[in-house]
Amino acid sequence: MQAFDYVRARSIDEAVLNLREPSTRCLAGGTNLLDLMKGDIETPVRIVDINRLPLNEIVPTADGGLRIGALVRNSDLANHRYVRERYPLLSRALLAGASPQLRNMATVGGNLLQRTRCYYFYDTAYAACNKRRPGSGCAAREGYNRIHAIFGASPQCVATNPSDMSVALLALDAFVDVRSARGSRRIPLTDFHRLPGSTPERDTNLDRDELIVGVILPPSRFGGRVDYLKVRDRASYAFALVSVATGLRVVDGRVADARVTLGGVAHKPWRAEAAERALIGRPLNNETIAAASDAAVVGAIPLRDNAFKVDLARRTVARSLRNAGAVA
Ligand SMILES: Cc1cc2nc3c(=O)[nH]c(=O)nc-3n(C[C@H](O)[C@H](O)[C@H](O)COP(=O)(O)OP(=O)(O)OC[C@H]3O[C@@H](n4cnc5c(N)ncnc54)[C@H](O)[C@@H]3O)c2cc1C
Ligand code: SF4
Repeated sequence: MQAFDYVRARSIDEAVLNLREPSTRCLAGGTNLLDLMKGDIETPVRIVDINRLPLNEIVPTADGGLRIGALVRNSDLANHRYVRERYPLLSRALLAGASPQLRNMATVGGNLLQRTRCYYFYDTAYAACNKRRPGSGCAAREGYNRIHAIFGASPQCVATNPSDMSVALLALDAFVDVRSARGSRRIPLTDFHRLPGSTPERDTNLDRDELIVGVILPPSRFGGRVDYLKVRDRASYAFALVSVATGLRVVDGRVADARVTLGGVAHKPWRAEAAERALIGRPLNNETIAAASDAAVVGAIPLRDNAFKVDLARRTVARSLRNAGAVA
């Protein structure tokens, strides 16, 4: 690990002032950042410890939504009574991630910014990784790519985003509140993570000098008709091969509103809008579920080792829709 300066921020203003210096990183739970630093994949010159900042509250908003501080730990969020009652989808997605110990440390901000689990990104013995070293190539494209993307990849990078929480936040139309010395802004989750394109070193549209201060959830419109289904190699403590978050609103026997989002399939949490269109206005029966799950995988482009993900995604969407809609 490379030597670095350590600063403990006592206020949000102090944290964002520190972030103006290039090569500065925030330290939240440290469950991803420290691994990356130990492997010399991230080599910040300065670390700003943000753990003492007043960003660990979960507060209902006047419109019936929820404001979640960036430092709220994943386990606290998953087990919060309001979240379990009003946003069970988020609670289930969080509990599907990592292990209890990791969830006790991991924060909302850090979870949003966790980096890909591409083997070649973590293994510096491989020189070719455009995400780690821009312009060096992509070892995964022609290498072992079983866990990689089937949607939205580019010749430069085929990595996937590993966050479970972000898949649920996308289905819930969340926003990310950020602050910098230049001011504040609110980023819809749909615009937060990026596709790799020709700049895979950038995972998100957060600028280098911006601090995540929280996440805003609009009022939940799906009630209990939600599901988070994660398929992985082990029953726990494993990243998703494919995951699906589903939210449905059914009025007079027909789907009035739907969200179907996928994890483990793209460089960002992936919204299956074609599947949503196949659901809206129709009764939730076997025929509609088949049409929606087929629509969810239109446009998928598998790599050498991950063609299985296309069928897996289709079946996982179908099962998640059945779970959410209580269709036998
Ligand atoms: C063995 C293992 C298994 C895991 N399994 C899963 C899984 O199944 N599903 C899943 O979703 N995740 C999984 N994770 C990942 C885990 O959820 C993340 O490591 C965690 O959410 C990161 O949060 P953190 O607070 O520890 O972030 P940190 O490691 O502290 O930070 C991560 C990044 O975010 C930046 N950052 C943090 N907070 C802020 C902020 N407020 N503003 C700006 N930048 C910030 C940091 O500078 C750093 O770049 C696993 C991790 C491990 C080690
Ligand atoms: S898929 Fe992306 S992260 Fe993995 S080796 Fe290629 S460039 Fe690097």
